[in-house]
Amino acid sequence: MKVDLINYTENAVELLILAKRTRRLDIKNTMDEISNMSDEDRNKELDYIFNTISGPWEFVDYTFLISGVTRAFTHELVRQRVGVSFAQESMRIANKEDFEYLDETNHPFYRTEMSNIQKTYSELISEGVPIQDARGILPTNILTKILMKINLRALNNMMNVRLCTRAAGEYQRVAREIRRAVLDVHPWADPVLLPFCVQNHRCRYPNHKDCPIKRKHSWLASDGIALSVKTEARETWEQSCCASPQPK
Ligand SMILES: Cc1cc2nc3c(=O)[nH]c(=O)nc-3n(C[C@H](O)[C@H](O)[C@H](O)COP(=O)(O)OP(=O)(O)OC[C@H]3O[C@@H](n4cnc5c(N)ncnc54)[C@H](O)[C@@H]3O)c2cc1C
Repeated sequence: MKVDLINYTENAVELLILAKRTRRLDIKNTMDEISNMSDEDRNKELDYIFNTISGPWEFVDYTFLISGVTRAFTHELVRQRVGVSFAQESMRIANKEDFEYLDETNHPFYRTEMSNIQKTYSELISEGVPIQDARGILPTNILTKILMKINLRALNNMMNVRLCTRAAGEYQRVAREIRRAVLDVHPWADPVLLPFCVQNHRCRYPNHKDCPIKRKHSWLASDGIALSVKTEARETWEQSCCASPQPK
């Protein structure tokens, strides 16, 4: 598996700050101000942007070529619909007689079946069956490549759930590579490229028991901190005028 960062928004920090400030100031003055900012002020701005409204994150894009991954993985990848674009190798066109595959089982039956499929696929092609029809017998774990453009907001969503130990092993490995590639060029993005529990201090999947992070940090397993905060917030909200319907 290989993740190459093909393209990215170079002046990302400036754009993030501009997008946040556009609401209030005129753009010319804002750009001048941003370019003269100290590192400390920039970091303060980033901290604010990462902890408040996530709209500005949509102005920062990354394009990855992800290769040597399974169709099983890419099928999961393309379930993400918002803030993301894909282009994938076509098995209607590409002849896959020498296909490679991922074997997570290391079981001899698996390998035997793969070579049977390889043989039958080649026979179908030599019998004149169109590639787009022969592909139906190819395995889910056939290796493929996919191009993905994703903005920072969507990437945060993806990292939250796919760096999580609940995600499929292959997806977790790709997610870690994506994170690494982004941090190589944008180390400041670390706070929003984390598993959900690390970023938000609670587990998103209370029924996910077999988690090494939960085993080590019992507050995650019990949802203790988040639960007490949530209860207090609910009580305050219920006591406020907002919760009661207004009289007609
Ligand atoms: C551990 C794990 C297991 C999973 N297992 C399964 C499974 O068994 N079967 C399965 O089908 N999928 C499964 N999924 C995929 C999952 O259901 C989502 O389709 C996928 O993670 C994309 O997430 P998303 O919808 O948040 O992202 P996006 O599609 O990018 O959407 C981003 C956000 O936009 C909003 N949004 C998008 N579309 C709509 C809409 N139509 N209406 C309202 N709001 C919208 C939502 O707030 C959403 O979170 C799994 C995902 C994970 C992480």
